[in-house]
Amino acid sequence: MAVQLDPQLLEILACPCDEHAPLEAGSPDDAAADVLTCTACGRRFPVVDGIPVLLLDEALPAEPKAPDDGTAG
Ligand SMILES: [Zn+2]
Repeated sequence: MAVQLDPQLLEILACPCDEHAPLEAGSPDDAAADVLTCTACGRRFPVVDGIPVLLLDEALPAEPKAPDDGTAG
C-alpha cells in the first residue's frame, strides 16, 4: 500500500541530509513502497504506521545505479 501522508505534511518534511531536500512518497522503482525518497541524496526512509522515520541511521541507502552495459536505449 502506498504511503498515505498529508500533502501539507509531506511539504514541510525534509531529508536530514546536508541538502535538506524535499521528500517524495514511494521509491523510484516502486511508487507504492512505504518509504519516502529524498530528491537529492536518494536515501529512502521507512514509514512505520504512517509515521515517517527521518533518521539517517534508519534510512536505506540510495539505489545503486544500474551498470551501463550499453544495451538499454
Ligand atoms: Zn537527502
